Amino acid sequence: MLQVNKGRAAVQQQTTYQAVTLITPTAAMHGEVHGGRAKCLQRLIRLDMPVPTTVALSFDQVMWIARGEMPDLDQVLTHFGKDPLLSVRPSSQDPDWGGPGAVLNIGMNDARHAAMCETVGEAAATALYLRFVHSYATDVARLDPEAFDFPDLRGADALRASLEAYEFEADEPFPQDVREQLSEVLRAMARAWDGTSARLLREAKGAPADAGLGLVVQAMALGVGQGESGSGVIQFVDSESGKPQITGRYLSQSQGREALNDQEGAFYLTHDPRGPSLEDACPEVFAELVAHGAVCRARLREEMQVEFTLENGQLRILDAVRVQRSSRAAIRIAVALAEDAVIPREEAVLRVQPAALSELLHRQVDPRAKRDTLVSGIPASPGAASGRIVFTANEAQASAARGEACVLVRRETTPEDIRGMHAAQAVLTVRGGITSHAAVIGRGLGVPCIVGASNLMIDRKKGVIVTPDGRHFAAGDILTVDGTKGEVLAGEVDMLEASLDGPFEKLLTWADDFRDIGVRANADTPADAQTAQNFAAEGIGLCRTEHMFFEGDRLGVMREMIFAETPEDRRAVLDRLLPMQRADFKELFSIMAGRPVCIRLFDMPLHEFLPFDKAGQRDLASQLALPLPAVTERVAALSEYNPMLGMRGVRQGISIPEIYEMQARAIFEATVESARDGTDVVPEIMIPLISAVREVELVKAHIDSVASAVQAESRTPFRYKLGVMVETPRAALRAEDIAQQAEFLSFGTNDLTQMTYGLSRDDAGRFMSAYVQQGVYEEDPFHTLDIEGVGELLSIGAARGRKGRADVVLSICGEHGGSRTAIAFCRAQGFDYVSCSPFRVPVARLSAAQLAL
Ligand code: PEP
Ligand code: MG
Repeated sequence: MLQVNKGRAAVQQQTTYQAVTLITPTAAMHGEVHGGRAKCLQRLIRLDMPVPTTVALSFDQVMWIARGEMPDLDQVLTHFGKDPLLSVRPSSQDPDWGGPGAVLNIGMNDARHAAMCETVGEAAATALYLRFVHSYATDVARLDPEAFDFPDLRGADALRASLEAYEFEADEPFPQDVREQLSEVLRAMARAWDGTSARLLREAKGAPADAGLGLVVQAMALGVGQGESGSGVIQFVDSESGKPQITGRYLSQSQGREALNDQEGAFYLTHDPRGPSLEDACPEVFAELVAHGAVCRARLREEMQVEFTLENGQLRILDAVRVQRSSRAAIRIAVALAEDAVIPREEAVLRVQPAALSELLHRQVDPRAKRDTLVSGIPASPGAASGRIVFTANEAQASAARGEACVLVRRETTPEDIRGMHAAQAVLTVRGGITSHAAVIGRGLGVPCIVGASNLMIDRKKGVIVTPDGRHFAAGDILTVDGTKGEVLAGEVDMLEASLDGPFEKLLTWADDFRDIGVRANADTPADAQTAQNFAAEGIGLCRTEHMFFEGDRLGVMREMIFAETPEDRRAVLDRLLPMQRADFKELFSIMAGRPVCIRLFDMPLHEFLPFDKAGQRDLASQLALPLPAVTERVAALSEYNPMLGMRGVRQGISIPEIYEMQARAIFEATVESARDGTDVVPEIMIPLISAVREVELVKAHIDSVASAVQAESRTPFRYKLGVMVETPRAALRAEDIAQQAEFLSFGTNDLTQMTYGLSRDDAGRFMSAYVQQGVYEEDPFHTLDIEGVGELLSIGAARGRKGRADVVLSICGEHGGSRTAIAFCRAQGFDYVSCSPFRVPVARLSAAQLAL
């Protein structure tokens, strides 16, 4: 269906823009059929803006054009009068999906040129014709642009040479018939949309495979003439910050977006000491533009960039597109629109992509930190991270499964590397530009990324990278990737935590009003807890205490504890860990300022604290004054065939109860001390790897007796909650009994996924790509919650848990916790909260709100 809109300009300027009739008078123009630009132009026309006559071709028509079926062009041309001059612009559903460039001045030919020499002057007429010949030759006839490069020729000479070059290159004279020109332009644009590179580019931006293109044919507003003529672009906010600010340019005697390309000759829009401005030169036009801008914002409910033309002092609005914006600007704009009551708060919350938040959430290298810069590249994704070098996606996944930060270093990345990129803290490639795979994916994932570090050499054989100054770094060495600056630094560097500005916090506060599920953070260290608190997490949902035992001199004490001969000796060593743990918990309680803190008791195979190589074992023997065989024997005795299913979690808590007792005492003493300092805490203690209710009963008895002892010693009453991690299938199945002993159940979907699939968290990376590629699994289940399988266990566990205790608190704390899929699932199951890594908290808060709206 062909649709025609009659703009005000068309009515006012009968001679230039002949009045037209709607072909289907009652038909409304739908964005999904004709594209966003067509829809927007129709709105501008309805808002009575001076838009030249516009005809829109639908997605279907353009598809048929690409296949060789041209619609009846008389139907189009009849709306533009005799000897029209036209432009054609793309109109895709989402402007971010791109499309072929606009073609202007269709209809220019020898006769028109001669006539225009009289009306607008020879120079302007010739420039116009020349521009059309060049764009037609290169974008429509696809001739070699170099054949039209005549640097020494100007004006009429350049035009003559270009027309001759066209005839020579195309084997036919430059077409003079507007119908033929229009038909070729439409065909070229329709086919360009169908081309492979255009398709890949838009698919990378999220366009579906069958995304359509509309085309908009518009009467040209010339922008050249005897009176004040020209063209420009104006917007009312800064694209980077989103703050109100009129920006853009205006260029006399120009068309399209030339004002943006020729900044030298262009005018500023507002008064500016640096040069002439449209506001000074044409104050009425400027005022009219500002008024149109205000109408656009209020009625289109969006910040728009307006393309305009002056034709002998008359303003024409040619187009308006959503202002391009950074993630920070997107948030500020949405918040400002809601604060001005242009859109409701709900809509502001819905307008910001959760992924956009993550761009603002990254750590940056502390500007005061010492930088040992190894090599520079293109800063492709902001933020900074340190980690050990890995060279393959599989190694990155294995590293992540071990909880070890890594930097994925590749010559360039391919789609097969996506899971590795996901697992890595940062990505560095030797090849590629800002739109390379690594750059696009890195930004999408919010992973700091540098591409095109071409002075870096990867020596695959030796497994090292060689920096330009000849330094070698091997797999396992630590690098810092500063994705904001594009610099690779040696070693670990001090970082600054992400900071949030006012609009960011406001948007998330609104999101909190709409969401109906809690969001906590997984935080093991004071730094994590501070980030969680900065991002307004409602508490800590998982503190993995074993991570605390690697800090400072604790490793040595842990090793001594492992070598203790009797429970008494073990207790004596643990007594030295007690004050350290107490201080840890007190600090967490203080940072979280009374918000809930859920502390998971120790969950790690003991052998992981011992050195596995001979040299390390020798060192340990001399530290502990033990014969080497005693150390090697203990290492051998503790090693397991399958440590993930071995002596970890509650199994240690029952076999060596002293560790849990020490931790419980540290938690309760920290609670008492915090209360004395004015912070009331109800600590939550969580038991890992439960598979039978008896395990809970045994540990509960120990912890209750420690609580009574601390209350008696301190003469301070306190409350605490005891809960269970549901991370074995049996715990989910037996949740009814277990919940009778536990106030809360937190589903650990990492282990639950591992045990449901029988899939090693540490080794699955080796074959995961093959599995996903061949469709065995739709997604890596460690990354995307498996709703069908693991999800069913979660539902069973939740329902049975509620049967055992009606008010049992339910949550999820595996790595899936912050993802939209998991949040949607947990909402549907009526869970109380999700817990995710601190940096995902804002994303989770926004996703949860969007799901609730
Ligand atoms: C889990 O298993 O999902 C979990 C959160 O615990 P961890 O990752 O420490 O095993
Ligand atoms: Mg676990």
